[in-house]
Amino acid sequence: MKIKKIILSIVAILIVVAVVFAMVRGSKNRNGASGKLKVVVSNYASYDFLRAIIGDNENIELTFLMGPGKNAHSYDPTAQDLVKIQEADLFVYVGGEMEQWSEKVLDSLERDNQEVICIADFVDTIEEKEVDGAEEEEHHHEEDEEHEHNDEDEEEEEHEHHHEEGAFDEHIWTSPKNAIKMVNTLEEAMEKIDGGNAEKYKKNAEIYINKINEVDQKIRAIVDNKVRYRLIFADKMPMQYFIDYYGLEVTAAFNGCSTETEPSAKTIAYIESVAKKEKIPVILYIELNDGRVAKTIADEIGNGCEAMQIQTLHNVSLDDFNNGETWVSLMNKNLDVLRKALQ
Ligand SMILES: [Zn+2]
Repeated sequence: MKIKKIILSIVAILIVVAVVFAMVRGSKNRNGASGKLKVVVSNYASYDFLRAIIGDNENIELTFLMGPGKNAHSYDPTAQDLVKIQEADLFVYVGGEMEQWSEKVLDSLERDNQEVICIADFVDTIEEKEVDGAEEEEHHHEEDEEHEHNDEDEEEEEHEHHHEEGAFDEHIWTSPKNAIKMVNTLEEAMEKIDGGNAEKYKKNAEIYINKINEVDQKIRAIVDNKVRYRLIFADKMPMQYFIDYYGLEVTAAFNGCSTETEPSAKTIAYIESVAKKEKIPVILYIELNDGRVAKTIADEIGNGCEAMQIQTLHNVSLDDFNNGETWVSLMNKNLDVLRKALQ
């Protein structure tokens, strides 16, 4: 069933690419009538950093391709998105398993004079780790094991396993150290496509980096005064860079890439046992989740244990997006959560 879905999605992408190719062929001026430079970005953190770097420059049209409120792992570009990518002066993506579509799309679109940044190439990446407590994703081929595997099956299997050796963890933006590297990389990319405004971009990037450093120091102060090391997620856990950066421990229902949100009874029992043993006061859930599972677990544990939402910046809700929340403002919202969870 899953293979069929993947094949269908590849066919769909190919058709869409052909349509886009035909659509864009006619238009020779990429910047169109607006004359604006187009910056297109797949992921929320990169979008937020570019928004800060670009500032009030009205000659830049910045597009957040995926848009708010969506699961980054189930996003596939639409025909319109492909046109936007093709017409971009600067295209920024994360890549990895989360954005498998990116390389395919870049290979198949005819692009010229375009700056392309795979932002993961500019930070220190870590390999995906087995998260304590995390459920393995269902293996869709177990019942087919008797049958002969063709090449697509093998490829498909690779995509199913999120802990393959050498696969990097795509959730690069959760450590301040990487966030700063991302800002610097994106600032240089903006200089490449719009050198005339280099000084403004440098200044804006510096201001934003200072804000990242400020929130980093606030988090560091909380971590320095911690009485426990462990964060518990009754959810997926896309914050390994954050956990490593602050020297914390983590237990979670799922790894960062999981598409599941309903943990099994066994996983729930394990989370409860760790939380009770270590007297953990907060059970976390992430943005775009209603926290129902975390609340049930917190109630079960009792003793004032509560469910709280932590912002992982994987994506933002539509409300947060419309309210202009940023990497910095959302990390600042995490301060109360971290204080309660660690102190
Ligand atoms: Zn993820």
